[in-house]
Amino acid sequence: MPKPSPRLAEVLKTTRISPSIQRIHLGGEELNAFPTVTPGAYIKLMFDLNGRPLTSAGEKGNFAMRTYTVNSVNPDKPEITVDMVLHATDGLTGPAAAWAVNAQIGDKIMIAGPGTSKGLSESYDWVLLAGDLTALPSIRNHLASLPKDAKGYAVISIEHNDDIVSLETPEAVDVIWEIKSSLTETISSLTWHEGQPAVWIACEFSDMRNIRRWLKDEKSLPHEQLYISSYWKKGRSEDQHKIDKRQDSEAYAKALAES
Ligand SMILES: Cc1cc2nc3c(=O)[nH]c(=O)nc-3n(C[C@H](O)[C@H](O)[C@H](O)COP(=O)(O)OP(=O)(O)OC[C@H]3O[C@@H](n4cnc5c(N)ncnc54)[C@H](O)[C@@H]3O)c2cc1C
Repeated sequence: MPKPSPRLAEVLKTTRISPSIQRIHLGGEELNAFPTVTPGAYIKLMFDLNGRPLTSAGEKGNFAMRTYTVNSVNPDKPEITVDMVLHATDGLTGPAAAWAVNAQIGDKIMIAGPGTSKGLSESYDWVLLAGDLTALPSIRNHLASLPKDAKGYAVISIEHNDDIVSLETPEAVDVIWEIKSSLTETISSLTWHEGQPAVWIACEFSDMRNIRRWLKDEKSLPHEQLYISSYWKKGRSEDQHKIDKRQDSEAYAKALAES
């Protein structure tokens, strides 16, 4: 399928839903034919090389893109929402987080996508969904699409108690909000249910590598039962992270093939 052309979107509403998350509602004529998406689908917000939002299609090499999960698509009108984490690592922040803080109703920005990502494995006895706040929109949408009798865990790591939001989950899925501790430790302290899990995890790059190693070494989790991805990397912009991520996937695939 050809990639959809970038669209011009307009900020319809912006709300701080918790200390760390700004929810941005995007709409406008060009979002008229925005498709229905599966959990984990994402768009790319487009910026010029000075970090300003692009308002017309840029030329290759002259813009930067930042990836955000489609949190919701309004079925009645052209409107989607994205939940953007407001981060500041040692005073550094990026164009997307800075834009999220300052966006005003009526502001315009080009968006590319949507793209889809691998979902939960279809066959499982229980589920494990985990990640930091960047993964919360995906985790929320996966939880909402589970059958009512699903069981398992959703583990979300947060910085502030006030970042806890209510989630629609099947009764037997325990939601664990992990505050200022390690996602790897929390996941490795869970009591595993009987049978095969479907595991979906997205988080910071080093955490991803630690958890992936633990799942392989300690749990021998079959590859097809697992989606694990880094959504960002400490000290690296998304463009730099993409390079590290590609190198890591190649090295991991090689190691798997040789093992
Ligand atoms: C498939 C996918 C879906 C994603 N969905 C979401 C989403 O729904 N919501 C969301 O908030 N993010 C999401 N992300 C992560 C988001 O794309 C990155 O956090 C992105 O780097 C933010 O861009 P920026 O311009 O703010 O910062 P960049 O310019 O990319 O980075 C600048 C600095 O900020 C640091 N940084 C970047 N992100 C974070 C963070 N979250 N916490 C702390 N420090 C950070 C970097 O390490 C770097 O030092 C997703 C990523 C992927 C791959």
